[in-house]
Parts: sequence; structure tokens; C-alpha cells
Amino acid sequence: MLTLCLLFLAAGGLLTVGVAVYWHYVGNLLERDAVEQIVSAGNETAESFRRALEADQRIVDTIAITVQNNYPWRKTNQLERFLNLQVKYNEFDNLGIIPLSGDVLLARSVELDNTWLQHILTETLKEETYLSSRYTNPANGRSVLVVAASLHDGLKPVGVLFALVPTERYKSLLTLPSAGESGISYVISPSGELQAAGRTMTSTNMLELLSWADFSKEYPFSALREQVKNGEPIFMRYRLGGRSQLLYGVSLQVNGWYLLSILSTDFIQAQAQHLTGVSLMLFAFIVLLFGLLVLYMFRLRAYSNYQLFKTAFVDNLTGVDNLNRMIQLFPDRVRGVKESAALAIFDILKFKAINDMLGYERGNQILQRVALVLQANLTSGEHVCRSAADNFVLLLSFNDRKDLRARLNHLITLVRRDCTAAETFMMVNSVFGVYELAEPVPFYIALDRARLALENAKRSSAKEVQFYDEKDRHRILRERQLEGMMEQALADGSFALMLQPKIGFQSGRMEGAEVLVRWYQPDRGLVRPDDFIPLFEKNGFILKLDMFILSQSAKLLAKWYHEGKEQVPLSVNFSRLHLNDSRYIPQMSKLVDEHQVPHRLIEVELTETVILNNRELAQSVVRGLHNKGFSVAMDDFGSGYSSLNVLKSLQFDSIKLDKEFLSGSEQNETARKVVQGAVEMIKSIGATVVAEGVETADQAEFLRRIGCDVAQGYYFSRPLPVKEFEQLLLPRSTEK
Ligand code: C2E
Ligand code: CA
Ligand code: CA
Repeated sequence: MLTLCLLFLAAGGLLTVGVAVYWHYVGNLLERDAVEQIVSAGNETAESFRRALEADQRIVDTIAITVQNNYPWRKTNQLERFLNLQVKYNEFDNLGIIPLSGDVLLARSVELDNTWLQHILTETLKEETYLSSRYTNPANGRSVLVVAASLHDGLKPVGVLFALVPTERYKSLLTLPSAGESGISYVISPSGELQAAGRTMTSTNMLELLSWADFSKEYPFSALREQVKNGEPIFMRYRLGGRSQLLYGVSLQVNGWYLLSILSTDFIQAQAQHLTGVSLMLFAFIVLLFGLLVLYMFRLRAYSNYQLFKTAFVDNLTGVDNLNRMIQLFPDRVRGVKESAALAIFDILKFKAINDMLGYERGNQILQRVALVLQANLTSGEHVCRSAADNFVLLLSFNDRKDLRARLNHLITLVRRDCTAAETFMMVNSVFGVYELAEPVPFYIALDRARLALENAKRSSAKEVQFYDEKDRHRILRERQLEGMMEQALADGSFALMLQPKIGFQSGRMEGAEVLVRWYQPDRGLVRPDDFIPLFEKNGFILKLDMFILSQSAKLLAKWYHEGKEQVPLSVNFSRLHLNDSRYIPQMSKLVDEHQVPHRLIEVELTETVILNNRELAQSVVRGLHNKGFSVAMDDFGSGYSSLNVLKSLQFDSIKLDKEFLSGSEQNETARKVVQGAVEMIKSIGATVVAEGVETADQAEFLRRIGCDVAQGYYFSRPLPVKEFEQLLLPRSTEK
């Protein structure tokens, strides 16, 4: 505030000084202009005045010739009329003839001083012409100059013709036209006597008058007197009667007369003031314009800032904040929430399907409605933003978990009611993942945990609102840890193969083995696949691992061949992820071929769920594998609901009954009937029936009785390390 005041003061001061300097500058400029003007105007006036005098002299000379021709003069009417006419034409005051002898003849008879007339006569005869000083016409009190010419008879002078010329006629000549009222010229005699002027004068001696004036030191009054006497030009400044004046004097070279031109500089001040005023107004206008421009620019910037804010922090589609804004507000908001706080993620189930079926426009409308519903149900301090597609993140306050769950369930109901389009049967179902903000964690961690809970909510159809708990956290941590290790583990050979024998009921011998992966971790020993396979299926690492296991299996088969051991077919588990990769089968062939192992020794196990999800794809994969000579087994049969038709169309070489299938058959007669039916059905389409998870002699006996072909389970053998398994192999010579 203080700096602003100081700034204003400084600006004001600067402006004042600026105006003063400017004013001064304009004044100087105008004065210089005035000086030039008075000098040129003075010279011009002197010239025109001289010419006017000459013209009057010429008129008088011309009249004199006529008068001369009528010599000797009698006081005739004719001459009188001529003179009268000339007076009138030439606007003289009077015209007269002074003869050397005889009476004076006048155009207008008035009483004139005889000695004065004699003076004119003598002066004129001296030089042939004569111009007098100013004289007051006694007939009318007007100022006149006498202009005279001598008259001759042959060479003999006989008299003088004179005219009384009113000085009034020079008045207009003696004003300085461009300076208006303020510029006047005066004709004076060397002693200062006024002869003619640009205006009616009261004083008669100009030098006397000017002796009262206030001259500056550089131009003293004495200089003026001197110059006038010498007939030299002069320029001066002075003050008289409170007014500043410029004076320019120049000799007229007539009678020693001198022309004084005087210009009042007050008008310069006025003009400077006017000019400064106009300039100031112009300046103010420009400043105003500039100010408006600056203001406009500020407005523009504020607007663009607002736009930036909007693009940065507002979700375009729904108008609620976006995730950036939530991230920015999160710590403050959490503090602002009075009770316990929770971060919840809202997700619409199967939103992609809604989009696909109803179109994006309709999908967008649903999102907008959802935003409205969520926003309308917030209390103070709570906050909602759209984080992505159909995900909204809410920061909520709550007292206890049960109430919060009820509130969120209610929100789900509201969304279902408000957002499900009347004309369609697409229900808008949604779920919440909630993380209670029990400890101060950064936003992205809280969001991560809420998202984890959301995943659980999506998985389990039972609970639409899932809370994050510590078990989830540990699982995630564990998964992160495993993900950090897996690549290195593969390179290190930390993934090991276990082999579980498959026993033929008829032969009573091992007819093959399933390859099962183990992960050796220094701190935990051998880790079972259930701990890491689901994770690898999520992150795609299973693609690499399966190929590794296949390659290791082929290597084993090759080794047995070289060692002269029996080569039992190995069943390798393949994830459903492979089915989407067209390179899968050629890659498999290549790996097996690298060890020169016949393809028939490799069986691929695909789980039943794979087949259910995409039958056509499964069909083409099975066909592809068969074309390359691999056997294909359906794993975990009975966990899904494959129909006989499906089984028929897919032409599996063998079908493995799911462990659960068998475990239920122990005490339950109906279950036993189901197993029996399944076995019969499988056999009817020509596939080998393999029973998994055979743990007891009873089970084995039951399976043998109902015609099951092969058994695999702890009863016969646990999955064995390669070394142990190899001891079960017979030498190749005894192979059938
Ligand atoms: P699966 O393919 O159904 O494999 C059979 C599982 O049953 C094995 O568990 C085996 O140890 C176990 N088992 C064998 N006999 C018995 C028994 O008598 N009673 C009981 N309760 N269980 C028995 P494991 O080795 O833990 O493997 C679990 C699953 O991991 C496998 O189920 C398979 O789906 C997957 N898996 C294992 N190795 C691989 C692999 O290399 N690649 C892929 N994609 N999946 C694999
Ligand atoms: Ca299997
Ligand atoms: Ca299985």
C-alpha cells in the first residue's frame, strides 16, 4: 500500500515537472517564433510604409505637373475645382499652392499659419520635395503630414504645391498582421516624436514613453536612444504596465525616421498555456487509452487464467473438479472434515457395455447425471471429482463404518434410479471401494487403497461397497515384492520344475507326468504356484514363465533320451493369456524343436474356463496344437459347466476331472453318480479320462471301477523334484 502511494506521488511529481518543462519548452519555442516574426514583420512594415510615402509623394508630384502647366495662376474656379477633386480622390485633408509671390491658394479655405507656410516653401524649394513631421490640422484637429513638391515655370521656381496627408491612412499599414491586436508599429523621429502609428496614440513621444519601461540589463534603454539616433536596427525586450513586450526597430531612411515594432508577448503565454492545455488533454487521453488497454490486458489475462484453471482443475464433461484439483485440495480437505474421513472410489459396472449399446452420447449423459447425484449428496467439507471415465473419487466424512456403508449403498440405489435410462433396460449398477483415512497418508496411497477395495467390490458380486483392510495391504505389498523379483528369478533359474506322475489304471504303470512350477525363494523355500500364478496372469509375466517351463520340460525329455531313459509324455500347464497371442503355437514348436523332442511327448493343459470364455478361439487353438502334433488336455473339468457338445466340438485328447469333483464323491452317492456319468460321457467322445487329486485307495478303486483311464494324486505320488522323479523312469529298452 505504501509503495503504491509512493508510486502515485512519484508519478504525480514527475507529471508536474514534465508539464512545467513542456510548458517552458513550448513558451520558448513560441517566443523564438515571435522574435522571428517581429523582425520580418517589422522589416516588411518599414518597406510598405516607405512605399506608401513614396506613392503619396508621386501623387503630389503628378498634381504639381498639372498645376505647373496652368501657370500663371489666377484664382480661377477651374483650378480650385481641380484641387478639390484631387483632395477628394486622394483623401487628403487639404491641398494648396504657395506661390513665391502672391496669395496662397487652398482647395479648402482655412486659416493657416503664415510662417509655417513660409517654412514649407523654403524647405521644399531646397530639395524640390518635402515631407514634414507630424502636424495637427487646425481645421479638424487631425494629425497630418505635409507632402510637397516645387512648381516651376521653365527652370524658374514659382512656388510649391503641398498636400496635407492624414496619418490615419497609414494606420492599417502599421499593425503587424500576423500578431493580431498585440503587434503595432510606430513611426518616430530621431527624438522620439511620434509621426504615425498602427493605432490611435495618446502619448506623442515614444522614447519618453519607453523611458518608463523596465528594460533588462542586456538591452538598456540608452541603447535604444543611441540606435534610433544612428538609424541602426535594434531588438529589445522590456516590461511596461505589467506586460512583456518585444521591440524591433529599423530605420525608415526618410527624414531620419525610425520604425518601432512592438509585440506583446503575453499572447505567447496565453498561446503556450493553450497549447500545453491541449497537449495535456491529448496526453491524458493517451494515458486513459493506455490505461484502458492495460486494464483490458489484465482482464484478458485473468480470463485466460480462469480458462487455464478450468482446463487444469475442472472436468469438462461433468463440471465437477478433476483429479488434479482433488490432489491439490486433499490435505486441506482432510483437515476440514470434522469426523473420520474416507476416500471412496465410485465405479459403474459394465460401463463399457453401456457405452457400446447406448452410444457415447448417452454414456456421457449418464456420467453427467451421476456427477449431479453424487454432488447433491455431499455435506459440507466433502468433495467429489471425476478421476477417469466412469470413476468418481469422493472425500467423505463419517461417524461409523456401518452408517457410511448404508449411505454409500443408498447412493448406489439413487444412481440406479436416477441414471438408468427409462427407454432401455440397461441398469446402471455401481460399486464403491472405500479407504478409511485412519493415518495421514499421501493422496495417491489413499487412492491406491480405495482402488484396491474397489477391485474387490467388482470381483465379489455380494458386496457393492467394499472397505480396504490390512490383509489387502499385505497382499499388495507381497505382490509388489514378487513383481520386483520375478524377472531376476527367471534369469537365476529360481523357478523349478516338479513332476507329478500320472498312473494308467489298466497298465498300473506311470504313463506320463504333469509339470508343476515352484519358485525357490531364499527366505521362504519352495513357493507354490497359487501364490504367484494369479499375479503373473495379471501382469502378463506368465507368458514368459510358461514358455520357460515348456523349454525346461523339452530339455528334460531330451536329457532322458540321451541318458537312455524312458520318455514319458509331459503335461504342461498353459495360461489362457496365450490364447490371444497368435505367435504362441509357432513359438512352442520352436522351443520343443530346439531340443529335438517329438511333439507327441508334450501335452498342453488348458483350463475349462478358458474354453467357456471364448469357444471359437479355443477351437482354433486346439486345432492349431493338433496340427503341430501336440496333445491337448482340458484341465479342471467340472469347475465350469461344459456341455457334451462343447467337448465334442473341441476334440481334446484327454480331459482332467477337477479335484473338487472327486472330493465330493467320498460319502455322497449322488456325487458318485455324477462322476460316473461324466466319465462315461468323456469316454463316449473318445477322450482319455484323467482323475486329479486322487488321495485315497477308495477313490482309486472307485475310479478304476467306473472306467477312468488315468489317475494323478497324492495317493500315487506327490509332485516330485526332477532328481526323484527320474528314479522312477525305466531304461528305454524295457519301454514297450
Ligand atoms: P492344476 O493344473 O490343477 O495342478 C494340479 C494341482 O493339484 C497341483 O498344485 C498339484 O500339486 C495338486 N495336487 C496333485 N495331487 C493332489 C492331491 O492328491 N490332492 C490335492 N489336494 N492336490 C493335489 P500346484 O502344483 O500347487 O499347482 C497349482 C496350480 O498352479 C495348477 O493347478 C495349475 O493350474 C497352476 N500351475 C502350476 N504350474 C504351472 C505352470 O507351469 N504354468 C501355469 N500356467 N500354471 C501352472
Ligand atoms: Ca494342470
Ligand atoms: Ca487341474
